[in-house]
Amino acid sequence: MMNFGFKIAPSATINLDNVDMEKFTLLHEMEPDVYKCMACGSCSATCPAGRFTGMSVRKVILDLQRGREKEAVRMLKGCMLCGKCSMVCPRGINTRHLILSVCRIYNEDKQ
Ligand code: SF4
Ligand code: SF4
Repeated sequence: MMNFGFKIAPSATINLDNVDMEKFTLLHEMEPDVYKCMACGSCSATCPAGRFTGMSVRKVILDLQRGREKEAVRMLKGCMLCGKCSMVCPRGINTRHLILSVCRIYNEDKQ
C-alpha cells in the first residue's frame, strides 16, 4: 500500500438503533439534570484529575448518551469526587451526585 504520510481514521459512526439505552434511561429517571448538559466543558477544565487521568464529566455524559459505557466507566476511575466540577457547571448540574448515580447504575465501585 502507498504511504501518503497519513491514515484514514476508522469510522466513528454510532448506530443508536443498536445501542441498549436501558441503563441511561434509568440514569435519566434518577438524575433528570443529565439532559441539561450543554457540553460546555467547564467541568472538564476545572477537574484536577483530568490532566492526569483524562477524567471528564462532559465526555462521560456524551459517552453514556452514545452507549459507550465501557469508555465512560473507565474514565470515572480517575474521579476523586472532590466536587469542583459541581461548582462551575453553568447549568447547575450536581455533577458529583450524577457521578455517584452513574457508578451505582453502571456498577462502578466508588463508595
Ligand atoms: S459544566 Fe455542566 S453543562 Fe458544562 S459540560 Fe460539564 S456538566 Fe455539562
Ligand atoms: S468530582 Fe471528579 S470529575 Fe468532578 S472535578 Fe472532582 S475529580 Fe473531577
